[in-house]
Amino acid sequence: MKRLWLVLALSILASACNLVATATPTLAPTPTPADDLAIYRVALTAPAQNDLALLDRPTRYSLTLTYDPATLTLSGSEEARYFNRQTAPLGEIYFRLFANYPDAGGKITVTRLTVDGVGVTPVLEAQNTALRVPLDKPLAPNASANLRLEFAVSVPRNGKAHYSDFTASDTITTLPTVYPLIPAYDAAGWHIELPPPYGDLVHADVSLYAVTLTVPSNLVVIASGSTTATRDNGNGTTTWQLVGAPMRDFDFNLTRQLRKDSAVVGETTINAWFEPADAEGGKQALQFAQDAFQVYAKRFGAYPYRELDVVETPTTAAGIEYPGVIVINRALYQDRRAQDNLEFTIGHEVAHQWWYGTVGGDQVNDPWVDEALAQYSTLIYFEDRHGSAAGQFILRNVFQSLYNRARNNGRDAAVNQPVSAFDESDYSAIVYDKGPLFYDAIRKKMGDAKFFKFMRTYYERFRYQIAFPEDILKTAEDACACGLQSEYQQWILSPAAK
Ligand SMILES: [Zn+2]
Repeated sequence: MKRLWLVLALSILASACNLVATATPTLAPTPTPADDLAIYRVALTAPAQNDLALLDRPTRYSLTLTYDPATLTLSGSEEARYFNRQTAPLGEIYFRLFANYPDAGGKITVTRLTVDGVGVTPVLEAQNTALRVPLDKPLAPNASANLRLEFAVSVPRNGKAHYSDFTASDTITTLPTVYPLIPAYDAAGWHIELPPPYGDLVHADVSLYAVTLTVPSNLVVIASGSTTATRDNGNGTTTWQLVGAPMRDFDFNLTRQLRKDSAVVGETTINAWFEPADAEGGKQALQFAQDAFQVYAKRFGAYPYRELDVVETPTTAAGIEYPGVIVINRALYQDRRAQDNLEFTIGHEVAHQWWYGTVGGDQVNDPWVDEALAQYSTLIYFEDRHGSAAGQFILRNVFQSLYNRARNNGRDAAVNQPVSAFDESDYSAIVYDKGPLFYDAIRKKMGDAKFFKFMRTYYERFRYQIAFPEDILKTAEDACACGLQSEYQQWILSPAAK
């Protein structure tokens, strides 16, 4: 996520926008019938075809959904096969119900819940954003349970909560994590804490998704993963089949108004979706996304999915990341003076496909793990795209300047804290502006060759996993064969909480 910067003038002129010719998506390889993972591989590029073998028994979601715009209701069924990957039995499994987030104006109701075919009465917790599913018989290590449920989500019209990310607006209906999602489980137990109204909500493991979504035929579905088929039902509705894997969430957007421009980079199709009046901003968004994508693929490692959508929405954040989808504030397309802000925001959100989408982190408790690196990656993008002076400008006039302002106001704090430890303004200054200064410090100490070796190793080692703060430090120290404790202490751990 990136907060909207109300006042930020980067004196960097984007170079002329050379739109790469629109191309049709590459056809996916034909699945092998005997291979039950084949349906998911359709969403992966050829070099990533074996990536599913890296996963330790991921949850398999199967969603069958219908959206009715007359009642603003998404309803249907979900099946989730969940494996206990822990060493102790589990007495319960949780789902997150983020559509019930307080004051969001929406609601999700779960009915007919069964575990391995037997009806279970679940319990709402965490202000109705968590659903506890008690298990009659504890789920043994390595065993799996098949959870099935039906649910209905009412979508708020012009929803205002949480950056207006969950809303039926005039141009688009945005549906982030609206289905019941099994949260991460680790040494701290089930992650069912209620996140603050700023920052990101989801902390989940990568999973395998197969989705069937029926919508009125005049709506286009923009979602995580790839569309494998569409079927006109002959009754005014169309059914979309989608798959995504390995993905830690599945995002949906529905629109009849947005237009699309596309470009192909390697085997990945990047789609920019924009309002008809914002075609110029849409073209620029596509160019920025392509450029950022190429910089990160070269610097960090390959993007494994066949599709990436960049979508203009009414969000009040500058942008928000989802696996395979980023949404960008429409004001950045409409205000031509905001061009630098559009470029920075797209650089940041595209970087989240590497840091969050692929290498996961606990977005609620360790937000700096993905956010500080998405910020520093944006500096790298500006440096590679516009020259080292552009990177230095961001370092000084954005990160150092905004952090120094907070520090001079007596608001310095340790970066390594949960979102809830900060108010919204400090969250931005400390995590988004001080956090990247750690990367600048270790890059200066390591030198570029070892720093980028660290970046590539971190991506390779933790892709599809959850990375913790100490993983970053250890991987960087491994890469330089040097100690980085003093930089970590200075930029991440200090000052100690009062
Ligand atoms: Zn972010």
